Amino acid sequence: MDLKGKKVLVVGLGKSGLAAALFLRRQGAQVTVSDVRSAESLAKEIPALLDEGIMVEAGGHGLLTFRRQDLIVVSPGVPLSTPELVQARSFGRPVIGELELAARFLKGRILAITGSNGKTTTTAIAGEILKEGGLPTLVGGNIGVPVVSLIDESTDDTWSVLEVSSFQLESTEEFRPRIAVILNITPDHLDRHGSFEAYAQAKERIFAAQTESDFVVLNADNARAAEAAGRSIARVYWFSIEHPVRQGSWVADGYVVYRAAPGAEIERVMPHAKIPLKGEHNVENVLAAATAARLAGVPADSIARAIEKFQAVEHRLEYVATLHGVEYFNDSKATNVDATAKAVAAFSGGIHLILGGKDKGSDYTTLSQLLRERVRAIYTIGTAAEKIESQLRGVVSIHSCETLDIAVARAAAAAHPGEVVLLAPACSSFDQFENYEHRGRVFKDLVNRMRGGKPWQSL
Ligand code: ADP
Repeated sequence: MDLKGKKVLVVGLGKSGLAAALFLRRQGAQVTVSDVRSAESLAKEIPALLDEGIMVEAGGHGLLTFRRQDLIVVSPGVPLSTPELVQARSFGRPVIGELELAARFLKGRILAITGSNGKTTTTAIAGEILKEGGLPTLVGGNIGVPVVSLIDESTDDTWSVLEVSSFQLESTEEFRPRIAVILNITPDHLDRHGSFEAYAQAKERIFAAQTESDFVVLNADNARAAEAAGRSIARVYWFSIEHPVRQGSWVADGYVVYRAAPGAEIERVMPHAKIPLKGEHNVENVLAAATAARLAGVPADSIARAIEKFQAVEHRLEYVATLHGVEYFNDSKATNVDATAKAVAAFSGGIHLILGGKDKGSDYTTLSQLLRERVRAIYTIGTAAEKIESQLRGVVSIHSCETLDIAVARAAAAAHPGEVVLLAPACSSFDQFENYEHRGRVFKDLVNRMRGGKPWQSL
């Protein structure tokens, strides 16, 4: 793909949009960036872009700007249904995402991981395993490092371990991972994708450009992910926490095991008890990463060593503190109902659960059974509170708290020694916070501030 002298528009000036614009400019393209945010709120980014000779359109999208391009690169945060993009496409302008752009230039092989939940954790685990196995490894994608910024470092021997979201996959064409992992497909982002099926199909695009010599790794325990096998032409490997699989990984007699082919010897990878992460969902992540790593050629002992050293990623069922015998866990990244269910299932009971934020069109009633079994009380926050309360009325006791500080204080006041206060809100954070990281940090601050005394006394 020769970009020299081409007119390229980058839509959305987030982290990956910025990296894409700078990359395109280095390739000799005439680059314009368009963002709906005001010039004022982009004050930090604009001077650097202008210095590089990149034009900036802030405070909205101009139709003309969109029409006069040879190529349009969209950031994952910008829906493809944005009217200017729809128009540009109807005028025959090619529209691709940052992932697709990067994939066209990235050297070496790709291990790509998608799923509704567990992507970041599994990507981080897989990255550590490949490094431990001595493979030249780069880690990027949604995990925080834009894929375009890996290009310069990549060589023909590189393994790029990439976390990819359904938003990024929506606009891929040639993106072809050597190994593609689908961890699970459960309802999420229905507000943007429109239906569960549309969302599931976006995830399946991870293997759309694969050939018979590539691999796809699927979760045998997740109906929608398993069903995808029928539409893949790659070699299908499985993982399961429930039962043995034809080829892939599962748990048997207290060990994580792997079988390379049906009838092949079953290899012991590591004792289940040595997985340092909480919750069965993390065993799934380990199995997925281990299967992918075996397919990349990493031996079992390197896999075991990397996993034993691995620590929970921040905001993913992260232990915060034990105060007055009550444990506090930060799972601010639980932004959908399934992640919350997994977090609740990681504890045997006595949970004080903080739920709420911005609703994503979710059905909270699916939590009812688990809540009855393990949760003492719910503390609701944010704009989703009313919906949550009406759907879960009568299941467990509910306290309307509106804000996180009140929720933490009330939960702390009610929790007995041996119980747990868990932030796993099942919603996005954008009504009251900048993002889930901000929400998680505020939660940890509130908890840490209680170290000196009992917070509810000061309220
Ligand atoms: P993602 O990048 O897909 O959002 P993360 O690793 O950041 O995945 O985890 C997101 C949320 O989902 C966290 O709340 C985490 O505790 C939970 N989670 C992690 N792995 C799984 C899994 N395999 N299934 C369900 N929930 C998971």
